[in-house]
Amino acid sequence: MDVADTYATQSQVKDEVGIRCQKLFQDFLEEFKEDNEIKYEKHAKELLKPELSTLEVSFDDVEKYNQNLATTIIEEYYRIYPFLNRAILNYILSLAETGMKKDLQDKECYVSFVDVPTRHKVRELTTAKIGTLIRISGQIVRTHPVHPELVQGTFVCLDCQTVIKNVEQQFKYTIPTICRNPVCANRRRFMLDADKSVFVDFQKIRIQETQAELPRGCIPRSLEVILRAEAVESVQEH
Ligand SMILES: [Zn+2]
Repeated sequence: MDVADTYATQSQVKDEVGIRCQKLFQDFLEEFKEDNEIKYEKHAKELLKPELSTLEVSFDDVEKYNQNLATTIIEEYYRIYPFLNRAILNYILSLAETGMKKDLQDKECYVSFVDVPTRHKVRELTTAKIGTLIRISGQIVRTHPVHPELVQGTFVCLDCQTVIKNVEQQFKYTIPTICRNPVCANRRRFMLDADKSVFVDFQKIRIQETQAELPRGCIPRSLEVILRAEAVESVQEH
């Protein structure tokens, strides 16, 4: 078994916690009511538009609906984030008309939580908080230009012309591990088909401790933050 096969096997291991959270979060979206209306239905329907992909969800509502789910989201955010996004996609697919469903299958959907309970200072971000959902305060000191980021690549094999769709991009440019054509052993020569790939807006910003939070005599600490989709250009430098 070589390295590529090992990866393929690992990715098929089911994450039971993730799957359970996905189901609970989808139930929440389908059931949570405010003033006798399903609160997130209207906004979810907006996501049927191709240019929109982010569903803003109040964390207070999740806590009211299911405290266990809320706790898992806080503690295991990095792990279950793709499952929450998948729940949003499933929910909007259930709201779409039959004819539209096919085009929406590969849509990127993102959750964006507001009203997250505890607010942390930049100085309080320790390794113990890696992977958790946190709310931070700080002053924006630098915004970088907006770029498109590749999220799902469609590639063409340069040896046999086979098209390989939906290659997930993880932090770096990722080509298929091997050509999908069983009689072609190409692992290196692929061309990206940009028109058939999915991109999202991407922006880096830097935030810094505010004067008020800065302990006397200390140099301000700063942190790079990555914004995607609708969060891009939602901030301004001061
Ligand atoms: Zn090939």
